[in-house]
Amino acid sequence: MRRKIAAGNWKMNGTAAARSEITALQAAHPDPRVDILICPPATAIAALSENAHPIHIGGQDCHVATHGAHTGDISAQMLVAAGADHVIVGHSERRTDHQETDALIAQKAQAAYAAGLKAIICIGESLAERENGSTLSVIDVQLAGALPDTATAQNTVVAYEPVWAIGTGKTPTLDQIAEVHAHIRARLRARFSDGENMSLLYGGSVKGSNAADIFAIPDVDGALVGGASLKADDFSPIISALENA
Ligand code: PEP
Repeated sequence: MRRKIAAGNWKMNGTAAARSEITALQAAHPDPRVDILICPPATAIAALSENAHPIHIGGQDCHVATHGAHTGDISAQMLVAAGADHVIVGHSERRTDHQETDALIAQKAQAAYAAGLKAIICIGESLAERENGSTLSVIDVQLAGALPDTATAQNTVVAYEPVWAIGTGKTPTLDQIAEVHAHIRARLRARFSDGENMSLLYGGSVKGSNAADIFAIPDVDGALVGGASLKADDFSPIISALENA
């Protein structure tokens, strides 16, 4: 049975003062039928993970090492100590801003597994790749490179996020999302014994008004949401759409 997940990526927004958003989500979804995850900036994880149940709290990145001379970085173990149970790795903004490669992302996922975190591994094509027809081959390269052989349905969630849909208000057509998700599912099934059970999220300009249509697509097990996860009033309808999918 696959877990359905509504995951919010706050990016570089929010501090411990955003507690009211967590409180509002708790009030609106006291007994959710899906997993709700908020990934705030690392500085707010410890404060926001206090009494967060049933909301899960996650990191947005981790280093491959457990500790050491890596100024400004945070290890997976540190995220766990702060109260996180998930971590996003390979977000397109990390790939672009920090030149992260699929090989590095696979190492980060392994570091997450070693710490007991569930890794949300992000993949997705650029606009140029979409337009030149290479989406599925780009996805294949990213899946092969960024997912460790030790990935399982217990330790890994895959997030398909077309780079051109992130933060732009543009979304692929429902048929385009369906095509890529079916393709990813086939690859997961072929490579992992429990690939059928790995949760597969769509990300890119998901909002309350398009969530139900996206969640009706086969092999969409939830969403990774940026802008519309910052306010409980915006995120809650997305969670409800997933609960009712
Ligand atoms: C994201 O940051 O992963 C994302 C999908 O952002 P947005 O929902 O704002 O497009």
